[in-house]
Amino acid sequence: MLEIKKLSAGIKNKKIIDNINLKVKKGEFHVIMGKNGTGKSTLGNILTGKKNYIIHGGEIKFKGENIIDLTPEERACRGMFMSFQYPVSIPGVNSMHFIRTAVNSIRKYQNKEEIEPADFIKKFKENLALMDLDDDFAKRGVNDGFSGGEKKRFEIIQMLMLNPDLVILDETDSGLDIDALKIVANGINNFRTKDKSFILITHYHRIVQYLSPDYVHIMLNGTIVKSGKEQLAIDLEEKGYDWLKK
Ligand code: ADP
Ligand code: MG
Repeated sequence: MLEIKKLSAGIKNKKIIDNINLKVKKGEFHVIMGKNGTGKSTLGNILTGKKNYIIHGGEIKFKGENIIDLTPEERACRGMFMSFQYPVSIPGVNSMHFIRTAVNSIRKYQNKEEIEPADFIKKFKENLALMDLDDDFAKRGVNDGFSGGEKKRFEIIQMLMLNPDLVILDETDSGLDIDALKIVANGINNFRTKDKSFILITHYHRIVQYLSPDYVHIMLNGTIVKSGKEQLAIDLEEKGYDWLKK
């Protein structure tokens, strides 16, 4: 699904990502943990094609194809999705209309007909219910006045509606209470199949325990310094990061 080879990147005058190698196969669930400011969100941004980063070297292959020159829109249309650490509000843009437009843009790119409005609404409302948000959210502006937890749940609704193959979730668990955390984990687990791949960025084992990932990676100073299984997330919570620096 995804192959990152010797990726180094940053912004003007600053290297943020330093020689990252990562392979994510179909059906795999990867977790990335790491200190604040270590480059986790930057990695997600670069994978999804956000502008203004400079790629110093390396390769990003998605479904076997080098995607470094593709726009974020093209990457999304080919099945990539990222939920934001800090979702922005777009007052005045109806949230259901926003997602329907995105769904239809992807369908158009894939030479499919637009989704039937009734089918879309039905599915959207089912997903609202799954995320424990009431129907009212369909009428509100995108993230407009949503609480922190509601924004994170709305990111999951976007994932469910857009139906991507590679999902990058950036701290989707941060700021969630225990019930919301279970709802979000449940939404992610329901969406998992043997054909979909996930990269979850998080600081806490709390969400990891619900997701039983295949791999946990630790990033420090822009690179992956250690990879392991779920136990690594538990060790990290017990010991912090200092032992890894040695
Ligand atoms: P993390 O998600 O691991 O907390 P980030 O990827 O958000 O870290 O940031 C890594 C480092 O790169 C930080 O020091 C951050 O300030 C810096 N950085 C990221 N993007 C930019 C940018 N556009 N301009 C300046 N600095 C940036
Ligand atoms: Mg971040």
